[in-house]
Amino acid sequence: MKKFINRPEDAVEEMLQGLVVLHPGSARLLGHKVIVRADAGHDNNQQVAVIAGGGSGHEPAHAGYVGVGMLSAAVAGEVFTSPSSDSVFSAIKVVATKSGVLLVVKNYTGDRLNFGLAAEMARSEGIPVEIVIVDDDVALKNTDQPAGARGLAGTVFIHKLVGAAAAEGKSLADVVATGKAAVASLATMGVSFSAGTSPAVGKPGFELGEDEMEFGLGIHGEPGLKRMEVQPADELTETLLSEILKHGKFGDEKRVAVMVNNLGAVTEMELAIVARHAMLSLESRGFTVERTYSGTFLSSLDMAGISISVLGVNDEWLRWLDAATTAPAWPNLLKQPPGRPESRVVANVDAKVTSPATKSVQSDAGRKTKEAIEAACKAMIDAERELTEMDRVTGDGDLGTNMERAAKALQSAVNSYPLDDLPATLKALGHTLRRELGGSSGPLYGALFLRCGSALEGSGAIGLTQWAEALDQGCQAISELGGAKPGDRTMLDALDPFVKALKKSDDRKAPREAVLSAVDAAQRGMEATARMKPRLGRSSYLGDRVLGYPDPGAKAITIWLRCACEVLFPR
Ligand code: ADP
Ligand code: MG
Repeated sequence: MKKFINRPEDAVEEMLQGLVVLHPGSARLLGHKVIVRADAGHDNNQQVAVIAGGGSGHEPAHAGYVGVGMLSAAVAGEVFTSPSSDSVFSAIKVVATKSGVLLVVKNYTGDRLNFGLAAEMARSEGIPVEIVIVDDDVALKNTDQPAGARGLAGTVFIHKLVGAAAAEGKSLADVVATGKAAVASLATMGVSFSAGTSPAVGKPGFELGEDEMEFGLGIHGEPGLKRMEVQPADELTETLLSEILKHGKFGDEKRVAVMVNNLGAVTEMELAIVARHAMLSLESRGFTVERTYSGTFLSSLDMAGISISVLGVNDEWLRWLDAATTAPAWPNLLKQPPGRPESRVVANVDAKVTSPATKSVQSDAGRKTKEAIEAACKAMIDAERELTEMDRVTGDGDLGTNMERAAKALQSAVNSYPLDDLPATLKALGHTLRRELGGSSGPLYGALFLRCGSALEGSGAIGLTQWAEALDQGCQAISELGGAKPGDRTMLDALDPFVKALKKSDDRKAPREAVLSAVDAAQRGMEATARMKPRLGRSSYLGDRVLGYPDPGAKAITIWLRCACEVLFPR
């Protein structure tokens, strides 16, 4: 892999530092991967604040759309990894006005969970927050894809429309209604000649033959709907438009705006060739093409692909598309002198986190808990390659690096845990994972350990029975938050058999024997996921193509579970 980066793990942070150099109207939120309007928090502006975001790797989305008339803040995660609920919550607190906040979220499990949780947190503090989910992808429209369609480049149209509506002083309810109506008149489809390469992973998300293209793909390096032979540009444009028009609803007047989006590595020449044919083709089908846009609006690293988005428009929406904005990535820049990175940092409202003091461990049980956490961390770090590879085949390839990053954070956090108090330690563990892990796994692991900790509170001696009950409740917390049940090909398919085996285990067995045979049950559950159809998470977009490969989230469970049990129940 050749890239203009320093250390892969610094890429997102250093990019954000660069973006505030390049975009004078924006500033960073201290302690979070969040870009806000430089005037955030200290303007008298009472308009609805719009926030968008998601994993990095989609530049210029989302930070490029921060500006007057578009977004008030953009929340970034690691590459292809949803930002944490903490970051979203901090962004909400900084930009919230009396009129409220709208979150524009692309329809991915991780983003829905983290933005949803943050909205919940903000509402509990009295901030009015609404969410508009964008699911413009038509590639999965005729499949029984339970997670629903993905959010793709058409999302940028939504940013522009709701941003302009908010700037005109519309109420939160009106802005939400505009967002929802626009999502309903929007359709996108993508195609690619090669996948992008994530800095942390170092190789492309999928490989294609010389004359193959991936059709109907997403923006996270996950493979597409099908592979086809490469077609000439006009034919390809026809194919994409036919699918888009089959599924989209653009209004009786058939007035549309079209976006030809570069997924990362396509030349302007090719974009123009496609835009030209898209325009001709739409007109020949009886549409009035009111606006055309071409460029890099929402990319997927260096993917050699394009997407076409079609949006049905009316006079009001056209006015909003045309309204001036200072957002640097929307094609109507107002020029401003460059800024300095250090002079344009807005203090984070909750930045007063002092680093927690090291706590001394008194009891044997406390020492064992620490040892178990450390063993599990080491195992997750060692498993990085394997999990990356598994998630590359069945998802988006970020699970290994996410787990590794979380494990490293945990290694430094563990000494500040109240280790002699197991329930409190499990809760602290949940908070660390919620913050550090990211993706879908972050909030789900957070829910697991928070619920486990609560369940164990007040129990006297903690033996296998109490563990089994607490983990059972933890599994329920995962189901409540993410909607998965055993059999849906997720981490629950390793956890649930473990809990069931523990509950059934014979009292006469030695605890070590009982727990290790429950770990074996988890292992078998994980292996069985290879035969399960994915219903949730990124794997679900791949349908039957993941059959034969076990679920990486379930695999991760078996790895740390075995290590932790080996330590907690020694020979
Ligand atoms: P993503 O990249 O999809 O945001 P991660 O890579 O963090 O998520 O985690 C992927 C794993 O998360 C999957 O292998 C699966 O085990 C688990 N997962 C995804 N969605 C759910 C869900 N709704 N409930 C339980 N586990 C889930
Ligand atoms: Mg993943």
